[in-house]
Formats: sequence, C-alpha cells, structure tokens
Amino acid sequence: MNWHTSSIDAIFKELQTNADGLAADEVAKRIQQVGPNQLQEKKKKPVWLLLLMQFKDVMILILIVAAIVSGVAGDLKDALVILIIIIINAIVGFVQEYRAEKAIEALKKLSAAMVKVRRNKQVTQIAATEIVPGDIILLEAGDMVGADIRILRSNALKIEEASLTGESQGVDKSTGALLEEDAPLGDRTNMAYKSTLVTAGNGAGVVVATGMQTEIGKIAGMLQEGESVTPLQKRLADFSKKLSFVILGICVVLYVIGLLRGVDPLTMLLTTISLAVAAIPEALPAVITIALALGAKKLVRKKALIRKLPAVETLGSVTYICSDKTGTLTQNQMTVQATWQYEQFGLSIPAIKKEQSLLLVMGLNHDSQKDHTDNDKRKGDPTEVALVEYALQQNGYNDRWEQDFPREQELPFDSDRKLMTTVHKTNGQYLVITKGALESILKICKTGDQQCINDQSNKLAETGQRVIAYSCKLIQQLPQKGDQAALESDQDFCGLAGMIDPPRPEARQAIAECKTAGIVPVLITGDHPVTAAAIARDMGILQSKDDRTITGAELAKLSDEELDKSITQIKVYARVSPQQKLRIVETLQKKHQFVAMTGDGVNDAPALKRANIGVAMGITGTDVSKEAAAMILLDDNFATIVKAVKEGRRIYDNIRKFIRYVLACNFAEILTIFMAPVVGLPIPLLPIHILWINLVTDSLPGLALAGEKAEPRIMQRPPRDTNEGIFSHGLGLNTIWVGVLMAAVGLVTQAWAIHIGDAHWQTMIFTVLCFSQMGHALVSRSESEYIFRLGVFSNRNLIGAIALTFILQIAIIYMPALNKIFNTAPLTITELGLCLLISTITFHAVELEKFIKRRSGKIN
Ligand code: ATP
Repeated sequence: MNWHTSSIDAIFKELQTNADGLAADEVAKRIQQVGPNQLQEKKKKPVWLLLLMQFKDVMILILIVAAIVSGVAGDLKDALVILIIIIINAIVGFVQEYRAEKAIEALKKLSAAMVKVRRNKQVTQIAATEIVPGDIILLEAGDMVGADIRILRSNALKIEEASLTGESQGVDKSTGALLEEDAPLGDRTNMAYKSTLVTAGNGAGVVVATGMQTEIGKIAGMLQEGESVTPLQKRLADFSKKLSFVILGICVVLYVIGLLRGVDPLTMLLTTISLAVAAIPEALPAVITIALALGAKKLVRKKALIRKLPAVETLGSVTYICSDKTGTLTQNQMTVQATWQYEQFGLSIPAIKKEQSLLLVMGLNHDSQKDHTDNDKRKGDPTEVALVEYALQQNGYNDRWEQDFPREQELPFDSDRKLMTTVHKTNGQYLVITKGALESILKICKTGDQQCINDQSNKLAETGQRVIAYSCKLIQQLPQKGDQAALESDQDFCGLAGMIDPPRPEARQAIAECKTAGIVPVLITGDHPVTAAAIARDMGILQSKDDRTITGAELAKLSDEELDKSITQIKVYARVSPQQKLRIVETLQKKHQFVAMTGDGVNDAPALKRANIGVAMGITGTDVSKEAAAMILLDDNFATIVKAVKEGRRIYDNIRKFIRYVLACNFAEILTIFMAPVVGLPIPLLPIHILWINLVTDSLPGLALAGEKAEPRIMQRPPRDTNEGIFSHGLGLNTIWVGVLMAAVGLVTQAWAIHIGDAHWQTMIFTVLCFSQMGHALVSRSESEYIFRLGVFSNRNLIGAIALTFILQIAIIYMPALNKIFNTAPLTITELGLCLLISTITFHAVELEKFIKRRSGKIN
C-alpha cells in the first residue's frame, strides 16, 4: 500500500487499527509476526573469528612458523611450549576484547530510546523496539520518531529529516491532502520516518512500518556507525607502529650478532622473533579500549552514560562546566510560594469575581495531565504541575471551571518565546491566557504599570524564587490554528506567581570540588537574572567580587572582542536563549578552554555538539539533545558531571600507569638481550623465557593497573592539557631510565653469576627479570604517591596477579617437569634469596624518584 497517497481511514482498515490504538493481545501477535522494531546490527564477528583474529599479527605468525620449523628440525618440546604460550596469550587477548565488546554493547542498550504510544485508549511509554505496525504513537518537540508513521494529528509539528534526506531544515507536517505517488521522501508531508527528529510542535501518527521495513531500514547498511577511535588510541597506534620498526631493526642486528658469535641460526631466529613479539606493544591501543570501555561501564553505575567512548578519555581535561539550573543544580521540585494579582486586573466574565480572576487563569493555562492509573495524580513538567495544583487548592477555585471553559487551542511552551498560551471558549467569546517569563509577558501586554510589576517580581526573585507572569485577553473570533501573532499580543497583565525549587544538596559540594580541581562552574539559565544570581550565590558559583552576571540581551550587544575579554569573569548567564549557548562555548574554546555543557531541549543540540563534552539530561532531556551529546546524566544531576570528571581523570591516569609499566618492562627485555652479546655475555634468555615473561607481566598485572583507584589528590590538581603528549610529565624519561636500570640489574646478575661459575645463571636472570617487573608493577600504581602510603594491598587484583606470577615462577624453578620444559634449574635458597633481593632494586629506585621529585616540588 502507498501510505502517503491513501486516506487515514483506508490505512486504519489496511492495518486493522484505530485511533484508540491496538489491544495488548494484538500487539503480542504482531510482534511475533514482524519482530522487534530495530535495524539489523552490523553482522557481529563470531566468537571463533574473534579468537582467530588474535593470531593475525604478522610477528605471531612468523613465530608460529619458526616454532614449527624448529620442531621439525628436532626441538619438538620447545616448539610445543612456544605454541602453548602463544595460545594462552591469544586467549587472554580474546577475553579482554570480548569483555570490552560486551561493555560497549551494554552501553548501547542503555541508551535505547523510549516512545509514547496509545494502546487500548491508554497512553504509555514503551521501548522503541516494541513498536508494531498499527500502533498509534504520540510525538512532541525533542522526540525521535520511533517508526515510519502516517500523521494523524499535527499541532505545528515540524520534523528534521536530515538523517534520511540530508536536508537539515525542518519540514512542516500535516495530516494533509493525499500526495502524488512518486513524491520524494522529503515532500511527503503527511508522513514521518523512523530516526528523524521532531523539532517543534506535537502530533500523533499511526505506525505503517517498523524495523528493516522502514525507509531508514532500507538504507541501514549505509548508516552503520564507524568505530570511534580516541585521540589517545590514534597517537598510541602511531607510536606502536614506529616503535615496531625500531624493535625489528634491533632484532635484525641482534640476529646478525648472534650468528657471528656462532649461535645456531634457527635458535637465533626463534630468540629474535620471540623478542620482537614480546617487545612490540601491539596490544596498547586494545588495552586503552578496554580501559575506556570498562571505565564507561563503571560510569553508568555512577549515573553517567557515555555515548561516545573518546569522552571517557577527555573528561579529565574539562576546565569549564556550563550547567543548566533547573533540575541539574536544583531538584526540579517546584512549589508555589506566593502569588500576586495585579490590582487593576479583573476578568469581565459573569460569575467570576475580581479576586478569582488570577486563580482562573492559573487553573486553566497548564500543560499537565491527570494520570488515571495513579489516583488521578497530575503528571507533566513540574512548573506546570505546581502552578495548576496551587490554583486548585486555593479558596475560591471552582472545580467546574475546566468544563465551563473548554480548551480550544494551545501554543506549547518553548524556551525561545518563554511563553505558553491556551485558548478557552466562554459564552460565545474566547479567553486567551498566556503565561511565561515576565519580560516576554510584558512585551505582549497593552496594560500594566511596568515599574510596579518589576518591583514585585524583583522582590520574589531576590529570594531565589522563579517568577512566572500571567496575562490574558478576551477575543470574539477564534484565529487560525497556530497563529501566534494573533494570540500572543494586546493582552492585559494579570499577575505573578513565585515558586521555589530547592538546590540539590550535593550540588554545592560538587561546585566546591570543581573549584579545587581547577574547573570553573558556570550557570547558564533561561531564568531571570535576579533569581539566577541569588541561586548562584547560594551555591558558590558567584563568589568573588569580579564574578559577573550577564543577561542574554546584554550578551547579544557585546561584540566578539568584548566577550573575549570578559568571558572569564562571567559566571552566570541569565535569560539566554539556547542559540547563545553556542556562542558561549565557541568563545570559551577560543580561549583554549575545554568545555562540558549541559542541555535538554531541541535547541540545545548545536551547543551540545560543539562542546568538548556535550551533556544531555537522561530524565528531562529530549531525544534530540541526547543524540547530540557525548554523555547522558541518568539522574540529571550536576554532581554526576563532577563525578564523571573525576572518573575520567582516574581512567587517564591508569592508562598512563599501564603504558609506563609496559613500556619500561619491554624496554628492559630488549635491552637485556641486545646488550648481553655486546658486552661479551651469552644471550641470557631462551625464547620460552622471553615469551613467558611477556605473558605474565603484560596480561594480569597490566589489567590490574587499569583498575587502580583514584589517587587521593586527584581533584586537587589542575585539569590535564589536552595537547600534552602521552610521554609528558616525565613519563618518557622514566620509561628509559627504569628500562636501563632493570636491564643493568639483570646483566650484572648474569655477569656476576657466570664470573663465580654459578651454573644456574640463566634461571637467575630469568627470575630476576620476572620479579623486577612485578616490583615495577607495584610502584607503577602511582606516579607521585609512595606505595606504603597507598597501602600495599589496596589494589587486590594486582596483589593477586603478582602472587600468582610468583607462585608460577617458583613452580618453574622447582618443579622437575617444568624444569625440563623451561630449561631451568632449581636455585639454592641463597640464590633465590639473592634474586629476590636484587629484584627489589627497581622498586626502590622508582620510590626514590618519587621522593626526589617531591622534595624538588615537581609533585606535591
Ligand atoms: P534552566 O535553563 O536553568 O533550566 P529555566 O528552566 O528557568 O532554567 P527555561 O525552561 O528556558 O529555563 O525557562 C525560562 C523562563 O520561562 C523561566 O524563567 C520562566 O519564567 C518561564 N517558564 C518556564 N517554564 C514555563 C512554562 N511551563 N510555562 C510558561 N513559562 C515558563
């Protein structure tokens, strides 16, 4: 059937539905038939392929070939052990990747959209995946359309269809006339399509197609999101590649040296390739993904849902948090405190006394619904509910008014107009009521003493109350639907209502934390400047005398240069329109600030996209804002942003710790093996030893480092500069000297043991290298804090990993079966004690470095 050319009745008949919606059993039947309303995911890699991919690395392949060749040539045992180690390595890699993938999948599920449907005459919210053809779905500004629908009702409904047509201008939708059969998608104004966004108005439609049957489903293949790579991953992948070449170069030289010294070519080949496999940090970018994905999973528990993985990495760099007020810093629990009826106002409607006039307009103009399933409790925007409930509870309010003044039209609230209007029929006339921000109301009023009204409003606002003004007029004829100019003009001022919205107790603490962490909290609100400043002062956002409050109107008058100059002093922006948020973000970014910006409405989307971290509200936010954001606050709470920043800093710190640890260890391995023949010693380790050290050091201890807790002073240091390289703050230097020290310790042990004729020298250097790396894992837990202060056992996973490695290493030294496999020999107690002692040198040296840095004030 051609939906856009058919009448609504014909569509209802075809889909066997009606305006009341489907019955539950019918829904169940249809979902069985057509399946869930979702686009097919990119074909997932099967588990076996994921496992096989672990072997795709060229070096691993060469190693496998070399092992087989050496096996064929005679040393079957060596070949087998090498193969086993490679397989274990692959399994570890696979488990890590699998976990990361699962974590990302779980995140995606959490951000799935919800839609409002009418089923069996009741409006309910369901997951978009549960929509079936024939469902009636309701739309309002900010929603994402859940399926392809034919429009049944349009109240100034406007939809942006860029995802489908590429056209970013919104299209006006109407129930409208039937269209030509070959009308292009963009012209089908009586249809709306899955994944497009409602930018204004509201409406309803009947679902004609779901899932892969929708227009977007038909082109879904083209829309699969690319995997996002974080800046750090990119830099590390680059670095790993360059490093690989250097390591390969070293291996070639080593190979030649080995041959010249008369080592058997096959053994030398295995040694050098094992070394290359161990030393090339090919796993680094993958480990970063794991750290970020697991971090994102943890953030969900803290009520911050990450939509774009790179955000986890960059959260720690935030220098500005620009936040909304209502619901984010405050509780969004509105209570009307007082009303003030303008003395000269009184409705000239029979049966309405002058003192009832304000109550009547307050009771009629609202956008809230009674929930029949919940004791007729009022549901809707808290401002709306508070105002109407206040009116209903006052003496003089008449319950019959709602029937006596039936609603004929309405213009929904939007934060650009800052007005909301309803039109009610009364005795052949029409009562137009508007409520909104005082300035906006005064602009559409022909009566009202501005001075007196402003004084009253300021009195309320100075105590932090949110002020709503009312105006109205009687007209004889109903204007055309949606004629805003005809309705919102020539009105009479009615009065004011003041309401409080208590601050969130945890927000004050979070603001103080921001300040110690070098982050500037800024309030951007649609509210009145006096109200905004009162709340900002109370919360600690406005503190010093240089801190300024500015209104949207003043902001509009500032030139770019003037704003550039003053922006760092402005802490409160009041009465700003969402469009101005974009200018604020851009100006701050020009000043090299890293901005997190909150938003919930349709018009906030550009600023959210532009901000370094766009933050949408999970509860009150529109789908449009969520689409644009990098992070969603599941509890709409300012304090959650600060928690997320802290978590971001922790994750970045841990990635650095991991890199520092792994690179220094790898460097030590390569240096030990390369330098030994250079200084006239035999090659110290066998290929199995190299692979073993690589396996036990990189995997478990490395991962345990990524789970390290936040350092005590993490929120007392300034944000990280996003331009700083990964090797900044001494990381590069540290890697080099620790690598050199570890190698030197190993080589000296080897040289000394050979010198005194100790036949166990190889087992000793093997053990020293392995244990030194464990010690290094332990000190890498913090770049500045002593381990004994952090608590040796406070990272249980790491202690577990080290203990396991220790036990395995002891087994390799003392179990005869393993002796044969690893070519090791049981050490005497003295030898073992000596190895243990020597292995602590690196540990102490790094702790000493912390001491020196602390003394010299480089870290505090
Ligand atoms: P924030 O931007 O911090 O969330 P806000 O909720 O006050 O603050 P808006 O929702 O844009 O910002 O509201 C701006 C102004 O519009 C309010 O100060 C109020 O005067 C008025 N207003 C808010 N909600 C309504 C409503 N439902 N009907 C009429 N006017 C409203």
